[in-house]
Order: sequence, then structure tokens, then C-alpha cells
Amino acid sequence: MHEMSIAMSIIEQVSATARAEGARKVNTIELMIGPLAGVMTEALTFCFEAAAKDTPAEGAILEIHTTQATGCCLSCGQENEIKAFGDQCPSCNGFLAHTRGGDELRIMAITVDE
Ligand SMILES: [Zn+2]
Repeated sequence: MHEMSIAMSIIEQVSATARAEGARKVNTIELMIGPLAGVMTEALTFCFEAAAKDTPAEGAILEIHTTQATGCCLSCGQENEIKAFGDQCPSCNGFLAHTRGGDELRIMAITVDE
């Protein structure tokens, strides 16, 4: 599963950071995920809990911040928020071409127990 490999790489990075800071436990992990990153946040949370077992990230709370993506309508030129590739323009049903944002997936911050 796609989300499982993402969860594991997040845990790897977070565990490395925790070790570097001499922390035994990670309390919260803040993630920034765009709607076009191709990640289902519910699946990611589920995989994360399973993958975090016996790591410093076990029991950590995932705080997921969703970003916005903007697209430009190829028919009328209007800019609109897009939630998925292939979304249509709300004004004219034209195709919205992705212009910026929305494909990010990164760890913003973690908090650890000292
Ligand atoms: Zn349009």
C-alpha cells in the first residue's frame, strides 16, 4: 500500500530526529499534505499507527494540515481551487489545469518528550 510506505518514511525521519535530540518518545507530528499529493489521510493515519509500533513514534498524534491547490480554467481563464486532478471549472465546466500548490507532503514539526 502506498500510504504504508509514506508512513514508514515519516516514522524513519521522525525517529532519527528524536534520537538526535535524545528523546525517547514523539508526542505529535505535524504534517502538511496537499490535496494533489495522492495521499488519503485516513489511510495514512491508519498505516501510521500500525507502522509506529515499537518505534519512538508509537502513540504519537498526527496533525494533518491540508494545503490548497490552484488551477486555471482552460476555457474561461478563471482561477479556482482544485481538490483533485480533473476537476472542472465551477463557472463553465471547463478543464482546470493545475497551476500551483497542493502536491506537498512534508513534516512541518514534531514535538518530543525530553
Ligand atoms: Zn471556466
